[in-house]
Amino acid sequence: MDIIIVCHTEFGFVHNRRIIFDKSAKEGVTKGVLTLVNIADKYSAKLTFALMPEAADYFPKRINSEIGLHIHPGWEEFQVDGIKYYAGDAYLRKHCSQSSTSTFLTDYSYEEQLNMIDMGKKYLESKLGVQIKSFVAGRWAINNYTVQALVKVGITHDFSATPYTKLFNSNWAKLPRICLPYNPDKEDYQQRGELPLLIVPVSQTLFWGNVSPEIIPMVGFPWLKASFLEYYRRGVPLFHICLHSSAMTDPYFISAMDNFLYFISSHKNINFKFGSEIGEYKTASFKTYILPYIFNINKDIMKTFFRIVRNKLK
Ligand SMILES: [Zn+2]
Repeated sequence: MDIIIVCHTEFGFVHNRRIIFDKSAKEGVTKGVLTLVNIADKYSAKLTFALMPEAADYFPKRINSEIGLHIHPGWEEFQVDGIKYYAGDAYLRKHCSQSSTSTFLTDYSYEEQLNMIDMGKKYLESKLGVQIKSFVAGRWAINNYTVQALVKVGITHDFSATPYTKLFNSNWAKLPRICLPYNPDKEDYQQRGELPLLIVPVSQTLFWGNVSPEIIPMVGFPWLKASFLEYYRRGVPLFHICLHSSAMTDPYFISAMDNFLYFISSHKNINFKFGSEIGEYKTASFKTYILPYIFNINKDIMKTFFRIVRNKLK
């Protein structure tokens, strides 16, 4: 089984087990990246850092990982627990034409998206001396224009897909929960097609949630382990973990990530890969395998499950 770890690399800190993407918290990049590298090294795991252009100056030197592009367009204020912060990329805001303040790429024209993606890619390449092949959209929101812009600038891998979910401007509802990488169609990025870009979806736990140490406060660690076991025992050839560099400044999430990689690497035939090393697999569909979850039903997941059901009934 191939394992990829895609880290959205941006400023921020952790408050009450939630990330506040505060731009003054540079340690979200400086310390967060190094901490994740140290954990990954223990298990010979490879990392893909999807980096915001505004954070390029703070990305640690001599990191032997893949670097991709992460774009948060626009500029808007958000609040968590009364703490205010801004979303958007200061570098792109200054250097690109953005007709809106929206923090969703999908609210921009093809030309504007192309401009941001091209500018961000070139900036990271010149700053860090690397070739950028991988991409993650802020807030998981892409559309057909995004896909066309990625192909145009030569990006080969996209890690923005969160199958089975539709949230705000992000729509991945057509993808099955357990979804293998695919080349999208020009007219519909959620359909298989011929475009020279591989969409590599984030692995999903049963009912709800990207596979990430960041969901542990909601679902509990046993549930996350169960998600790995489901993919592993069903013979799914790829397990895609996502997280934010800023989570790696907090002891709770640091130890969660460490424990998760320890658990994964204790299994046979595990191959950690960089995101852009992933190719297509033989087409297959996978049925839900519920057993690992049943043994791991706990208080946290029941609370989360009932919350989801309640919200759906509203
Ligand atoms: Zn982000």
